[in-house]
Formats: sequence, C-alpha cells, structure tokens
Amino acid sequence: MRKNLRFYLALLCAKGTAAGLRLLGRKATNMPGSCAIRLCPDFLGRMPRPTRVIGVTGTNGKTSTSNMVEDMLASCGYDFICNGNGSNVDTGVAAALINHSTLLGKPKKDLAVFELDERSAPRILPYLRPDILLITNIFRDSYKRNAHVEFILDILNRYIPDSTRLILNADDLLCAGIRPENPRVYFGIDRQPDDGDTCRNIVQDVRVCPQCGGKLTWDFVRYHHIGRAHCPACGFASPSPKYRVIFTDPARRTMRVELAGVERELPLPNSSTINVYNSLAAVALLSEFGLPAEKLAAAMDKLAVSETRFNEEKVNGRSLVMHLAKGQNPIACSRAFENARDYPGKKSVLLFLDDFYDATHSVESTPWLYDTDFEFLNDENIASITVAGARHWDVFLRLLMAGVPREKIAHSGDTGRAVELTPTDGVDTVFILYDVFNIRFANGVRDQIRERLKALPPKEETAHED
Ligand SMILES: [Zn+2]
Repeated sequence: MRKNLRFYLALLCAKGTAAGLRLLGRKATNMPGSCAIRLCPDFLGRMPRPTRVIGVTGTNGKTSTSNMVEDMLASCGYDFICNGNGSNVDTGVAAALINHSTLLGKPKKDLAVFELDERSAPRILPYLRPDILLITNIFRDSYKRNAHVEFILDILNRYIPDSTRLILNADDLLCAGIRPENPRVYFGIDRQPDDGDTCRNIVQDVRVCPQCGGKLTWDFVRYHHIGRAHCPACGFASPSPKYRVIFTDPARRTMRVELAGVERELPLPNSSTINVYNSLAAVALLSEFGLPAEKLAAAMDKLAVSETRFNEEKVNGRSLVMHLAKGQNPIACSRAFENARDYPGKKSVLLFLDDFYDATHSVESTPWLYDTDFEFLNDENIASITVAGARHWDVFLRLLMAGVPREKIAHSGDTGRAVELTPTDGVDTVFILYDVFNIRFANGVRDQIRERLKALPPKEETAHED
C-alpha cells in the first residue's frame, strides 16, 4: 500500500498526540495509534515496516514469552521496536511504530518484536506481515470476546500471510494444524512423570483425528488437549518437535533440551509447566531467528525470575499466595485451581473471579464456570473457600456441584466482607485467586490478611518442596 495524503495527515496527528502525551509525562503506548487508525483505517498497511518483524501470539503465555524474547534479544545487544509496555491490539502496534519512526514514517530500527492479540489478527497480520510468528497455544478464552477455538483458528488461518514462518506447539494439535502450507517448526515437551494416559479436565477441545475424524489414541495427556496423540485409522500423529524439552531439573533450575538434533542443558527461570513451555518457545523462536545456542544459553542465564502471576510470601510461619486466575477463561482457572490443590499444607482459598466490569458495563455469561475444573477445589486440604463479588451465587452453586461441602463455603456479594469470612487460624496457607481486573482489590485483601496472619501466634514452618 502506498502512502497517501490521508496517511501523512494521520501520522502527523499521531506524532503530535505522542509529543503532547510526553509533555504531560504520560506514556504514549496506545493513543497515538488509535488516533492514526481513526483518521486512516488502513494506516498499518501504509506505515513502512522494519526490515524484520517477529510476532508472538496464542491464547496463553504470549506476554511472558514475548517479554522473555525481548529481554534475551536486548542482552545480546539487539536494538528493536516492541510493544512490551503497551497494548497488543492494532492501535498498540501502530503506536510503537509511530514512536520509533522519523517524521515521514521511516522506521528508526531494523527489527521489531510484537506481542499480538490473536483476536485482532485481521487488523494486524495482513499489514504487518511478520517474518516469524510464534503461536504459543490455542485454548478457550472469554466466550464473550473470543467465542470458541474454531473461531480463533479460522481467523488465524485466514489472515496469516503465506510467507510467514510459523513456530508452533507440537503438543497442541489445534495450534500445530494452523496454516499447513506455511513453512514451520515445532516445539514440545516429552512425556514427564506427572503426565497421564487420560484427560483429567472437563474441557478437552481435541477429541477426534483432525484428518479423518476417527477416534484418537493419546500417547499421553498433560492437561486439556495438551499432549501427544495418534490416529490408528489413518496414521495421523502429533508432529515431531525440532525443539524439545527432554526433562527439567527444578532444583538446579535447568532443562535438558534438544535443539535441532543437538542435546544441551539450558537455564530455566521458572519450572512450572507453563513457564517451561514459554521458555522453550522463546528458545525456538530465537534459534530460528538466528541466535546461536551459546548466545541463547548466556541470554537465558541473565533472565530475571519474574513471575507476576504467582507471588508467595511468608508471614509468621504461614504462606500467603497471590495467584492470577483469569476470569472467563476456563483453562487458566482450571490450571490455577490445580496449583492451589497441589500446594502443600492446609489452605484457605479466596476466589475473586468476577469480571470487574460485569455489573457496570456488560452482561457476562456464566457457562465458563461449567467448563472450569472447580472439582480440583474439592480437596481435604482445602479447609475453606471464600467467594466474594457480584457472581457469588453462581460460583457457590458451581462449588456445590463440584461436591465441596456447604459448610466449607462462605460467600457474599459484598467484597468488603471477604476478609472477615475467611478463616486464617488453623491453616498453613491463604491462597488468593484473582482475576486480572481485580488486582487492586485483591492486593487490598492480601494486605488485610497479612495483618491478621501477623497477629496470630507464630507457627513453625512446615518443610516442603516447591
Ligand atoms: Zn485419522
């Protein structure tokens, strides 16, 4: 697409907006982009792109993975444009490009790394035409926003350009089947001790062979549709990963990885399964980008262990855990519930899963509660569950259906009562599971619980492994 007068006008306005925002001391991470796209709807198509563009998308893990990729590239001395502090929709991408361009729109850097919202693919991918696109996984997400996995897959299949080289999750047959004609490599994790032969979750979005519709035989199931499978009828099988984790050693914080046929040990910033996938995906991406294995290992070694989704502190010999459980997302919540169940010791669990905007701006549907494994919370080591928020009756009902004894559940529409409803005496850990839009409120509850734990008589710490 050629630059026209309208484009230059939009660029000028966007540049002016960005300068104004900076004068006011505010970040220009989105508004210049939305200004440009409002004035010139195909702005991204007319804006010159850097010589090389890397994209990271997928349902879960795209933020963590792209942060990792950006940190590693920076520590190897690369200078690049990214939307790391901004938004991952079209306006955020446009703002990043505008902020790093000359007055006429020429990019000031040769390389760009963008985290891309999969739902926004039609408005980004045909214009941005990434050279490499990493897709972490494809899961159910908010039904209101993403409908169902087939809808997202259709978008990606339609709008990923033919020339884009794909890096796909071999353990996710939905992800692995995207754009079969495009050049591609896969990453995956070999069978690990915790993996099973059958699915332990309610939702498993791959049931039959994608090729012939026959019944799949699972070689192992990790969670939901993540695992490896083959079809006895037609010979279809999960693809072989070029990048694979053979095993992890959490104590030494390392993972044994095969990179394009060569085995080596790499540092592992965090050993939870989702983080192993994110680290492996980053390694695969940067390896395909051209970083040699030695540089990769050195860059991973320098990665800070940052975990914003899980935070654990010790108070008076007890644990206080904050765990993100993305509301409306049955997969993210099921994973969080399983983590809460597996955390050692007796626990009180607080659930703040409501869409913060539910009551004021939108009408949320509740079917996702029935696709989420609340059954994981029906466990003898979970002593109490507190539910607070507008949807407390829905969650209460769902917990009863999961078999949680009525006397273990306290619930209220008044979030201010959450702390008083939660028993802190007699438990080893208080686990706060919160939706991302409730973080402020969840932090407030955490502070109050911390004070209550401090007031309790000190408890001898129980030794346990992470
Ligand atoms: Zn088949």
